[in-house]
Amino acid sequence: MIKANRRTFLEATSLVAGAGLFSSFTKEGKLLPRYQPSGKGLKFSFKPYELQLTHTFTIASNSRTTTAVMLTQIEWEGVIGYGEASMPPYLGESHQTATKFLSSLDLLQFKDPFRLEEILEYVDAVMPGNCAAKASVDIALHDLVGKLLNQPWHRIWGYSAEKTPSTSYTIGMAKGDEVVSKTKEATSFKILKVKIGGGNDEEMIKSVRTVTNVPLCVDVNQGWKDRQEALDKAHWLKEQGVVFIEQPFDKHNFDDTAWLTQHSPLPIMADEALQRIGDLEKIHGVYSGINCKLMKCTGMREAHKIIEMARSLKMKTLMGCMTETSCAVSAAAQLSPIVDWADLDGNLLISNDVFEGMKVVEGKIVLSNLPGIGIRKKD
Ligand code: MG
Repeated sequence: MIKANRRTFLEATSLVAGAGLFSSFTKEGKLLPRYQPSGKGLKFSFKPYELQLTHTFTIASNSRTTTAVMLTQIEWEGVIGYGEASMPPYLGESHQTATKFLSSLDLLQFKDPFRLEEILEYVDAVMPGNCAAKASVDIALHDLVGKLLNQPWHRIWGYSAEKTPSTSYTIGMAKGDEVVSKTKEATSFKILKVKIGGGNDEEMIKSVRTVTNVPLCVDVNQGWKDRQEALDKAHWLKEQGVVFIEQPFDKHNFDDTAWLTQHSPLPIMADEALQRIGDLEKIHGVYSGINCKLMKCTGMREAHKIIEMARSLKMKTLMGCMTETSCAVSAAAQLSPIVDWADLDGNLLISNDVFEGMKVVEGKIVLSNLPGIGIRKKD
């Protein structure tokens, strides 16, 4: 019986041939019998993986050459959705914490992957924190559901694929000559993100400017301390062709941030100050905009809500990422057609990607037509 159901399902939906779950019509337009699931639950699995970074990555607070990730999958009725948790050490998650969290989940109790809200509310409530681990479940579930619908999420959400922005490429903190050589490697990008806040801001910008005239954005990673000095820098950075400043002060320093936002000639974007959707209310009026990342906000479900809400509050939006494989980056890219800026270069900073998906062509994000989050496993 189960086998017969499964065959009917595959015939009706022609998953392999590329039709969708709801395009199950005969040539005459007659609706084929709706697929009846076998009643089996969602089969969830995960495995630790370590990303090798092509350059030592240095920001205001630390330096590293690898990133721990967790690769996940959810299988249902023979269809597999892929997910990923990226866990840079400063966020407090690790292979150990993710293993503990993911092992505690019981997804077999859910028999219908389309109940995204119910399933992901359960995942979020199991224990606090663990945002990247939660995102790895969220992404896998979205990939699965998109595959069952045979549509990528940007289409399910109603976004226009051609409206994707250019992605910035990140130049980490370094000495002047190293910055020059890194910038020379990034000539195909139409916008660069420069990490500053380490005491050599001018040297960083001037070094980049010896190579290129493309617009820049800067990420201070909470590195500035003084509001007047910050405002002077904001004016100087505007003259240097910078388009926004990300997280200038400590994430708890609302007073200086609100003052800077009020006086700055450039938009001030929140990164560390915005984790979950509840933070949006706190930072509205303090920052000009937000950097939304799947690993901070538990995945695509909440990121979609955050971006839409920020837009309705007339805040600027930036879709960002960690160092990740093409899995999580392609998931984030599904939202990129509606953001002001994108910083989705995480898969370009690693040497051992296991997926292919979203591409960057002459600096611009090009979404794949593949269903779900738009990825396939590399051979
Ligand atoms: Mg940042």
